[in-house]
Amino acid sequence: MAAGAEALLRPRFELLREVERLAREEGMDLFGCYSGAHAVPLTGFTWARSVVVFGLGIGEKELLLGVRQRGWSRARQFVDLLLDLTACRISNLLLRHGHESEVIGSSQAGVDIRRLAVVCGLGTIGRNGLLITPEHGPRVRLAGVATSAPLPGEARVVRELCLECNACAEACPAGAIGEGFNEARCREYNLRLERGASFRKCSLCTDVCPGGATPGP
Ligand code: SF4
Ligand code: SF4
Repeated sequence: MAAGAEALLRPRFELLREVERLAREEGMDLFGCYSGAHAVPLTGFTWARSVVVFGLGIGEKELLLGVRQRGWSRARQFVDLLLDLTACRISNLLLRHGHESEVIGSSQAGVDIRRLAVVCGLGTIGRNGLLITPEHGPRVRLAGVATSAPLPGEARVVRELCLECNACAEACPAGAIGEGFNEARCREYNLRLERGASFRKCSLCTDVCPGGATPGP
């Protein structure tokens, strides 16, 4: 690389390192960055040039903290608080550097954070419609930040992580997993559950998935 080009790129790498350091300090164990043409359609922000996505695997440490009273869904609420706080801190950091930034929350409607995670190289989408990561399978929660900063990060391809074992389809009580993932059926089933006495969400397709290294709760 020519010395001039390297000098131009250095501040971008330094900023990315600063962002990742902050995410790691907040305890995030997954981190990825993407910069390029997909940033606008995937985030919905016309000014977005880059996006960072980070996440937490839900493993024993979260379950031991007593968040398992209602299984995965209770653990998810606890983890989402940490993710959203981290997203706010990263967004503030980028704003301080003079870049427009917007938080993509862990439960934010209108942005498919799983697709963003895929272009950031964090995993692939399984038959159950979830992001499967090498480290934690689908047992992850994600958040992100869209920014006008031209961070260095190209789309990365990860080897296919869905084992096509069909365990999720067999476990699904709504028949939502077949040739493709039927999101409407899943949503309808979960709405029925939430209206019921337990206020629980279904997580069976997550629990049974053998993708990734960490076994299900
Ligand atoms: S349970 Fe099997 S088929 Fe379903 S997403 Fe996981 S690895 Fe793929
Ligand atoms: S969350 Fe439950 S209903 Fe939805 S696809 Fe997974 S197993 Fe089926």
